[in-house]
Amino acid sequence: MSRLLVYRAGELKNDGKRNTRETSLAKWQACDFANKAADDAVQIHGAYGFSDEYPVERYLRNSKAPVIYEGTREIHTVMQAEYVLGYRKDKELNRMLPAWDQSQLIK
Ligand SMILES: Cc1cc2nc3c(=O)[nH]c(=O)nc-3n(C[C@H](O)[C@H](O)[C@H](O)COP(=O)(O)OP(=O)(O)OC[C@H]3O[C@@H](n4cnc5c(N)ncnc54)[C@H](O)[C@@H]3O)c2cc1C
Repeated sequence: MSRLLVYRAGELKNDGKRNTRETSLAKWQACDFANKAADDAVQIHGAYGFSDEYPVERYLRNSKAPVIYEGTREIHTVMQAEYVLGYRKDKELNRMLPAWDQSQLIK
């Protein structure tokens, strides 16, 4: 699900279309589920999951940061609730965002 949300947000961005709602949703869900998966991994490995002798505890620590930066889990939750309840509406863009152009890639 996270992958599809990220692809959807990326597709809109590549097309130069507004993607605030979709990107917020993708960031929130992907980061939250990565953190939950890492938490489960620590639990499954028991004491070894907690120990820094194995990489599992690092996955949990590393997956926590994205739940905080670039909009915390709570802020994205509030944003998405506002979209659903109709309290948040994206304004018209001042200008079109440039669509992704493969020919502009530096070779
Ligand atoms: C690894 C890492 C790298 C970072 N890199 C950068 C960077 O490069 N540049 C940069 O500018 N910043 C960076 N940050 C900072 C990051 O953007 C902030 O930590 C983040 O925006 C949260 O702000 P805060 O720490 O002030 O927490 P606060 O805003 O004080 O929030 C504390 C808690 O309260 C919750 N909360 C706050 N307001 C509400 C609300 N209205 N409703 C519900 N809950 C709420 C938050 O979700 C959070 O859980 C980084 C943070 C980390 C962890």
